[in-house]
Amino acid sequence: MQIINPATGAVIAELKEDSRQSLELMFTQLQQGQQQWASETLENRINALKQFSELLNENIEPLAAILTSEVGKPLQQSRNEINGARNRIKWLTENATKYLSDETMTTDTGLLEKISYEPLGVVCNISAWNYPYLVGVNVFVPALLAGNAVLYKSSEHATLTGLEIEKLLKQAGVPDNVFQVGVGAKEVGAALLEIPFNGYFFTGSYNTGKFIYEKVANKMVPVGLELGGKDPLYVADDVSDVAAVAAATADGAFYNNGQSCCSVERIYVHENVYEKYLDAFVKEVQSWKQGSPTEDGVYLAALTRKEQLAVLENQVADAKAKGANIALGGNKKEGKGNFFEPTVITNVTNQMLVMREESFGPIIGIAKVKNDEEAISLMNDTEYGLTASVYSSSESRAKNILSKTNSGTAYWNCCDRVSAALPWSGRKHSGFGSTLSHVGLRAFTKPKAYHLKA
Ligand code: NAD
Repeated sequence: MQIINPATGAVIAELKEDSRQSLELMFTQLQQGQQQWASETLENRINALKQFSELLNENIEPLAAILTSEVGKPLQQSRNEINGARNRIKWLTENATKYLSDETMTTDTGLLEKISYEPLGVVCNISAWNYPYLVGVNVFVPALLAGNAVLYKSSEHATLTGLEIEKLLKQAGVPDNVFQVGVGAKEVGAALLEIPFNGYFFTGSYNTGKFIYEKVANKMVPVGLELGGKDPLYVADDVSDVAAVAAATADGAFYNNGQSCCSVERIYVHENVYEKYLDAFVKEVQSWKQGSPTEDGVYLAALTRKEQLAVLENQVADAKAKGANIALGGNKKEGKGNFFEPTVITNVTNQMLVMREESFGPIIGIAKVKNDEEAISLMNDTEYGLTASVYSSSESRAKNILSKTNSGTAYWNCCDRVSAALPWSGRKHSGFGSTLSHVGLRAFTKPKAYHLKA
């Protein structure tokens, strides 16, 4: 398998893909290692993950350089990602004892009634490339803390990072037969579905998630699916500083070149502030530097996957054909690397692909709405349900709108953010199950109810 730098097109590594046999061997080894790992004290497992976080910090520069070389994001955004992963590890390790230890529920019945949180066993994590540290940590950290062994199938676009993660986990004290990386693309992912894992945790697109869910259904094991989104954002007419809102929401749409599951993907703006907002939004986008991910000050660099360029071109063409205006950009950049101009499309409707299908690129549709009711109706007009955001000076107005939107996460005066203390979960085509928070810590356990009579 060739690893290609998306910013230059150069081959930066060649790796041997795993085979069905090598994956089965890993699985057998993980089965052996898991029991020993689960019998360690929780404190020892917590210490190993804390040490892993320390190693991420000590090696942040080379790790960020590797990440940037294979996914194309600006170096500073790679550093931000690693620091973000460390914040999540901090929360998970600091809260593991509280949420993974046995819980006594009552003695009022004359019995001791308690819950113990047992590990699932050997879990399979098929992962994405857009934030390999963040989405990886969401799964393998709580899974390891809870006493599971993990086979982590890194994305074919973030394999070098997956191998670095494996190296550092081992240096931190996680045994060889407790964490293994599967190298390869789709076929390797599909081969894992044939192996009897005790749980499947997937981060990626709706289509692959649906395929995996159907394929493993007959195993009767827990499945978690963190899938895509078409996340809406509404700007009400009572925002106090339209230009500041435009700048913040433009970042929510374009950070990491729009390749975030919770990127703002659709914007609805109240007609009273629409012109002012659009003007400030376009100015903000024009102020960003686009270029090589290793150049200082670059905000928009290369897209990770070459194929996405055609998806974006198609969304632009479809929008134009249906009457939209291109306020900015609209084209891929000629030359080496996967570069697309930051693109702002107006006069859009929910019938256009750019407002229906995940763009996962530096492109946004902005629509004008008459009132909150129209905004709610358009926001909910989607097959996805990951996040929804409202900007308004009124808390009650925002909360009222957010209570009517069907998404796992709701934002008031913020967007495109994840907190380790809150459950991260999708609805509808955005998936199900949760990572992060106490819900995500326990997602890799099976509760056992003890009724103990002395
Ligand atoms: P993808 O579905 O193409 O691939 C994800 C993983 O699945 C990769 O490791 C890939 O090799 C593997 N895979 C592909 N086909 C497979 C098959 N038939 N059987 C088994 N495994 C298979 O997704 P991607 O391009 O890596 O990631 C982008 C998507 O992930 C976007 O839709 C994004 O919104 C979503 N995402 C969601 C979250 C979230 O938390 N909800 C986070 C990050 C990314």
